[in-house]
Amino acid sequence: MKIQEADAKSLLLAQGLPVPSWIVARTPAEVAAAARTFFEAGAGKVVIKAQVLVGGRGKAGGVKLAGSPEEAAEVGSRILGMDIKGITVRKVLVGAAADIIKEYYLGAIVDRGSRRITLMASAEGGVEIEEVARQNPGAIHRVSADPLLGLLAFQARTLGLAIGLRDPLLAPFVTIAQGLFATMKANDADLVEVNPLAIVTESGPGDAEVQRLVCLDAKITLDDSGLSRHPSLEAFRDLDEEDPTDAQARKLGINFIHLDGTIGCMVNGAGLAMTTMDLVKRFGGEPANFLDIGGGARHETVAGSMELILADPKVKAILVNIFGGITRGDEVAAGLIEARAQQTRNVPMVVRIVGTNAAEAARLLKEARFETATSLDEAAEKAVALSKGSAR
Ligand code: GDP
Ligand code: MN
Repeated sequence: MKIQEADAKSLLLAQGLPVPSWIVARTPAEVAAAARTFFEAGAGKVVIKAQVLVGGRGKAGGVKLAGSPEEAAEVGSRILGMDIKGITVRKVLVGAAADIIKEYYLGAIVDRGSRRITLMASAEGGVEIEEVARQNPGAIHRVSADPLLGLLAFQARTLGLAIGLRDPLLAPFVTIAQGLFATMKANDADLVEVNPLAIVTESGPGDAEVQRLVCLDAKITLDDSGLSRHPSLEAFRDLDEEDPTDAQARKLGINFIHLDGTIGCMVNGAGLAMTTMDLVKRFGGEPANFLDIGGGARHETVAGSMELILADPKVKAILVNIFGGITRGDEVAAGLIEARAQQTRNVPMVVRIVGTNAAEAARLLKEARFETATSLDEAAEKAVALSKGSAR
């Protein structure tokens, strides 16, 4: 689950990281009011940033500075409602604009290869890290944390030195890098990215200017499988931006993943779903999705799943493969019949149901004139033929 910058920043703050304060606003008037708060606290300028779950907002015109509350309202009215990579901006983050000296990249990821949390840093910050990885991979430095010992100070220091940081900014960098690691662990995150991590100047005591490292941007992706351990993080789910298909699948309690093919698959069990997709491919077809309706699915789940499959206009045929155990074949058949009565689009379907209550399922399906198959090979072959418009 991706979360918005403002929410990601609150998770960084909770680990004690240096994050400039912010206010989230949803209307130009709220932007002006928020801006006024920062101007009154001494800000020279404010920054207004689109809150959308995609990167490259700056490049798309979603990050702008303003010099007065009036200008902030005007900039806010331009950013709110803006379309960034297909997403409408509904809220913005307002904060005191930082006076940036230099931008770095710092990120933590779960590195499945080494099975460790790896920290990556680059002196080429501010730009998208994928771009740096393509054009200048040598500019990205990495260290992997030890699963037991965590990210040790010397490792973080090595990383800081590699990107050119020196005293007195090295010690704060170590704290920030360890804080990123702590944020990963505390929230079961897949990714914690600060880009830019910036050196900024601030006025210190007297007229003196001090340089500090601050987290100006934050991007966090949470591991969906870890969410049950952190119920409070559910509040960060942005329903405005969730793919309606994903929201529907979550509501139905099924696993659904969109693919590019033309054959919609409905299967119970993840292993069987993968096998079914393999067979579809072997017979020359391409699956349109992975769908595991889970064990013991009721007819409403079946009907809802069918609706999801049919919502994809690329689907030309549907293959239902059920190996009844706790899932009852007749319950699935009833769901399929219910779904067909409601469906708005006529797509050919092959159904194979074996196991618990298969005989009852067969009777129901025959009565309702469904195309059936007994073996999985036969079912897959028929579905591929149907998807190519050559029903036998
Ligand atoms: P992204 O484009 O979605 O990654 O959004 P960022 O928050 O990283 O902002 C993009 C760029 O805007 C940064 O790399 C900075 O150069 C600039 N920027 C962001 N915040 C500030 C700020 O407070 N002051 C100044 N001067 N520039 C900023
Ligand atoms: Mn950024």
